[in-house]
Amino acid sequence: MAGDLLMELVGVAKSFRAADGTVRGVLEGVEAALHENEIVALLGRSGSGKSTLLRIMAGLVRADRGSVTYRRRPVEGPVPDVAMVFQSFALFPWLTVQQNVELGLEARGVPRAERGRRANAVLQLMGLSGFGGALPRELSGGMKQRVGIARALVVEPVILLMDEAFSALDVLTGETLRNDILALWETGRLPIKSILVVSHNIEEAVIMADRLVILGGEPGRLRSEIAVTPPRPRTVDDPEVRALIDEVYGLMTMRHPAEGAGARPPARLGYRLPKADIFHLEGVLHRLSESPFNGHADLPHLTEELALPGDDLYPAYEALALLGLALMEKGDITLTPLGHRYVRAEQSQRQEIFGQQLLTHVPLAAHIRRTLEQEPTGAVPARDVTELLEKFLEAPEARQVFGVAVEWGRYGEVYEYDYHTGRLALPEEDEDAETGEKRGE
Ligand code: ADP
Ligand code: MG
Repeated sequence: MAGDLLMELVGVAKSFRAADGTVRGVLEGVEAALHENEIVALLGRSGSGKSTLLRIMAGLVRADRGSVTYRRRPVEGPVPDVAMVFQSFALFPWLTVQQNVELGLEARGVPRAERGRRANAVLQLMGLSGFGGALPRELSGGMKQRVGIARALVVEPVILLMDEAFSALDVLTGETLRNDILALWETGRLPIKSILVVSHNIEEAVIMADRLVILGGEPGRLRSEIAVTPPRPRTVDDPEVRALIDEVYGLMTMRHPAEGAGARPPARLGYRLPKADIFHLEGVLHRLSESPFNGHADLPHLTEELALPGDDLYPAYEALALLGLALMEKGDITLTPLGHRYVRAEQSQRQEIFGQQLLTHVPLAAHIRRTLEQEPTGAVPARDVTELLEKFLEAPEARQVFGVAVEWGRYGEVYEYDYHTGRLALPEEDEDAETGEKRGE
């Protein structure tokens, strides 16, 4: 059972100023709490603000607004009771394993003999006995991360924050390390009271945590919280675990109805597009239409079958739903009748369906098309559109959204973009149609 309150965040907000001077909200109204005896997983896509939130909790970054307290006292600088583990291991290459682990103790003025004793103890705990004299480069990735964790534990923190700590490892190594950590936690051998695991890996979060929180939206809010009750150790084959994974997949891939409501209406007008290319969209459609799915799949299962990184697939799923080619619900994806028709259609018909859906469901594309139709020349500088986007998005993201809009628009033959002249234009066919040359089917 979760115990005393350790850390609490109320109404936390944070924005960053981009290089071009625009300000982008990363976190908004974040409410969260961490208690003794619990493992909490924080899930969210890349760029959703997870690392920023962790740094705020560790007292390394200050929130712009809201309150952050540790044991009911305001956090005003680095919290000594909080230790962090990073995806990148962050080991000093010129120091031995032992020296890397002792570093934090040295900074705290712990006497030499005591440092050695404590470092040995955590190295042993992490299965690294005998490796104290090794240099990081002599170790495998999994062992490096064991050193990273040992270094965090050696200061005997109360809270351990793990920022994608297993993401850089291959699947098996990551799983083994994760299971070792969980076994140590379950048997009370970790010198800590609470763990916050940040991940974009849903399975990992469900396997580890007592409670999941999902960070989403622009700017990010904690928008769902799910209790994970099956006893550990958990396996993904357990139906109860499976059902939870499905539920979380659903929550992560669906655009939340409340997302952006009020705060940022432009997001709802479609100024943001999932970064999905046509190749991935069609890949998903194809696999989904084939046996054994025949148009309906459990998202984790389909993701596994496609063997593409989740970060490529979420946007593809989202795009299919956005375009009305698939429905997503509770961790399942289902082809719509139009999606079925799309898969069976010939290339030119597909592009036609795509173009129609684009105009109906993607306001940005419809806006571009309307603008071009109103121009006597049928063309405008792309700057007109990118400047509009930059009112709402940071420049790099505006460019990315523009890139997606161009790729989709071209494919659907809704408009053209000329990289040399930097102009958007109506496609050639339209002009031909006007002169009657290509009319008739
Ligand atoms: P995550 O860990 O979920 O991938 P981050 O917290 O690292 O997300 O980043 C969230 C957003 O904030 C990103 O768009 C990132 O570019 C931006 N960001 C993070 N730190 C800074 C910073 N120091 N200055 C400017 N922008 C930042
Ligand atoms: Mg991060």
